[in-house]
Amino acid sequence: MSIPLTDVRAQYASLEAELHARIASVVDSGHFILGPNVRGFEQEAARYLGVEAAVGVANGTDALILTLEALGAGPGDEVICPAFTFFATAEAIARVGATPIFCDIEPETLNLDPVDAARRVTSQTKAIVAVHLFGRPAPISALPAGIPVVEDAAQAFGAGSAQSRAGSWGVAAAFSFFPTKNLFCFGDGGLVATDDLELADRVRALRFHGSTDKETFGLVGHNSRLDEIQAAVLRTFLPHVDDWNGLRREAALRYEEVGLGRVCQLPRSEAGHVFQLYVVRSRERDRLLRSLASAGVAARPYYRTPLHLQPAFAYLGYTEGSLPETERAASENVALPMWAGIGRADQEKVAAAGRAAVVVEASP
Ligand SMILES: *Cc1c(COP(=O)(O)O)cnc(C)c1O
Repeated sequence: MSIPLTDVRAQYASLEAELHARIASVVDSGHFILGPNVRGFEQEAARYLGVEAAVGVANGTDALILTLEALGAGPGDEVICPAFTFFATAEAIARVGATPIFCDIEPETLNLDPVDAARRVTSQTKAIVAVHLFGRPAPISALPAGIPVVEDAAQAFGAGSAQSRAGSWGVAAAFSFFPTKNLFCFGDGGLVATDDLELADRVRALRFHGSTDKETFGLVGHNSRLDEIQAAVLRTFLPHVDDWNGLRREAALRYEEVGLGRVCQLPRSEAGHVFQLYVVRSRERDRLLRSLASAGVAARPYYRTPLHLQPAFAYLGYTEGSLPETERAASENVALPMWAGIGRADQEKVAAAGRAAVVVEASP
């Protein structure tokens, strides 16, 4: 039996009856866009995150774009972000006309390095986009004071603690509900969270063509709405996200118990980390990947070509060697099977397949 990288469906198997009822009630209502479920989810998510306002949008990428636009970032501005992240982080910066300035990462956490970020601040710096990579809170409080921080919290719904959630630390945060994220829906969805009510109002206008009353268009905006069916799915799942994240954390600890640490470098499972992905490091990555594949274990490197070396950003002039820790992480990382509910038997198989790679390495 092969082991997948993630099993989205296993996480909500016990909720299917409630899901079907909630979706059917949207269908029966005939109200599909900006209705009671989007409003309800926005309120419930804001309460959960501990922020004043939350605005549902079409996806996580748009959550970043609309936030940056609402902050006034545009041509002539620089926005600092890590290069070891999903493309959308920097794409959003470029999409609003600003210049992405890539900084390096801390090797132990894979999150942006606040010292390197501070070094890259200029008079043009408009904001820093800090990514909570793979579900681990980024070091927001160590970032230079006085520069607005936007949290790319796409991989980190529920990270932090009940008293202080990821998504409540910056001027605003962007979440994604793509089906592999910690909180997810059955398609695309996103959210902007903020304590700044004026910023929230601008994002709300931007998601509806720059209008607040559907008649007067004060800005050139977007069509970027969370829809009612996805909001109904999210309202079903939100009360379970803490349990799911708890299961992910337990699974992370279990990878230590089954001896995976003898095979590769494991991510530290510090408080607040919600393991959207379980990403290890190995200098012998190809050997590890071959051994996992032959045992039927799904595994894959993430961000093998980091953003500063992507063709779309060649115009920025970075070269190989520009961001050494980023490049090392890109060449050494492997994501292993992780979802809310993965069990010990599967994890023992993963560890055994990993050990086989080390044994091969040790033999003459
Ligand atoms: C998933 C993701 C996004 C984009 O979210 P979408 O909903 O797919 O648009 C942005 N940043 C990071 C770090 C992500 O993982």
